[in-house]
Amino acid sequence: MADVQAPPVLDAVAALAELAPIGADPVRGGWSRHLLDDADRAMRAWFVRTAESLELTVETDANANQWATWAPHGATGPAVATGSHLDSVPGGGPLDGPLGVVSALVAVSRLMAEGHTPSRPIVVANFAEEEGARFGVPCLGSQLLAGDIDTDRVRALVDTAGVTYPEAMAAAGHDAAAIGHDAARLSSMALYLELHVEQGCQLAPLGHPVGLATSILAHGRWRVTLTGRGDHAGATELGSRHDPMLVAAAAVQSARARAVGSDPVTRSRATVGKLQVVPGGSNAIASEVRLWLDARAEHDADVRDLVARIVGDIEAAGRAEGCEVTVAEESFSTRVAFDGDLTDRIAAALEPRFGDAPRIPTGAGHDAGILSAHLPSAMLFVRNPDGVSHSPLEGAADEDVRAGVDALAAALRALT
Ligand SMILES: [Zn+2]
Repeated sequence: MADVQAPPVLDAVAALAELAPIGADPVRGGWSRHLLDDADRAMRAWFVRTAESLELTVETDANANQWATWAPHGATGPAVATGSHLDSVPGGGPLDGPLGVVSALVAVSRLMAEGHTPSRPIVVANFAEEEGARFGVPCLGSQLLAGDIDTDRVRALVDTAGVTYPEAMAAAGHDAAAIGHDAARLSSMALYLELHVEQGCQLAPLGHPVGLATSILAHGRWRVTLTGRGDHAGATELGSRHDPMLVAAAAVQSARARAVGSDPVTRSRATVGKLQVVPGGSNAIASEVRLWLDARAEHDADVRDLVARIVGDIEAAGRAEGCEVTVAEESFSTRVAFDGDLTDRIAAALEPRFGDAPRIPTGAGHDAGILSAHLPSAMLFVRNPDGVSHSPLEGAADEDVRAGVDALAAALRALT
């Protein structure tokens, strides 16, 4: 006789549909959910509500990461952690990273319904500011947790609206004075497994709905400031201009050309995806252009080499136009090789349902990459039929979303 209602068994497709109205971006299309803005706070409220419906213990740490713990009687020792992030790039897709958080909560609900008795706790994480869309530093929540980033540097961050990181934290009830290395939280986890929508298109040609990650390319972001002289677009003779837009154009061209030149050996990618033009008038020569260079390659030294070549080109273009060039590194993430033993154990758990799941590298950064330097970490990818990500066009078939939950549940069952 049960007078207590059993926790619900959740469905990932239904949960994603529930999240769809939150942060829908009418200008860019897709979704914009940035650290502690209204949309992100609505996502976080959903996380709390859903985790509490499963009777999980929900906490928010000093770095604004959320945690939901299932520790039934008998579950002891360091936890198996799983999850992802609920923030997005500007105008991003629906699955990067809600799919990982949703799948984790759904997998836990399913294990509960099956009567699984975990030998150790399972913790579902929602990492703050994974995309770095508000303050420019990706994986901010996990980097703070891991002690991988200087806290004074973080407290000095300012978003594009002029709001400082401490102000944004305070507005959401957090104290930026308390951020930083969380050794207790870190040591409370035995391992971390992140499920994520595939970024790129490797699984579809192989005919597999899920795959495992082998490695993450080394990658980083650089902010390039080009300073010229603002002037009139009609009255200023061409020969006397110092137009930073020309230098910016050279930067965009160089990024592609230099990356293409080394791609076959080093899997290099270089992208300028964000540009700010001051003053930004159609009849004014710009006085300053700020652009962001994203560069990635197989190994750390390949990225450094690639960026040095591109910066050399930008500086040469700057000299030719009489513009000043300054370059600041916003982030750098070394190459990540995921834990082979853990990945093998997960592959074995997947085998009965999925056969020999492919193992694929990824060019995208993840909190699992940050954590992998501190505890055994692994990733599961769910097939993305077109490979498109960081775009409203990102997607996965409903049956693949559910297959991802099956895979994660099988892994969590085996690991606990
Ligand atoms: Zn992501």
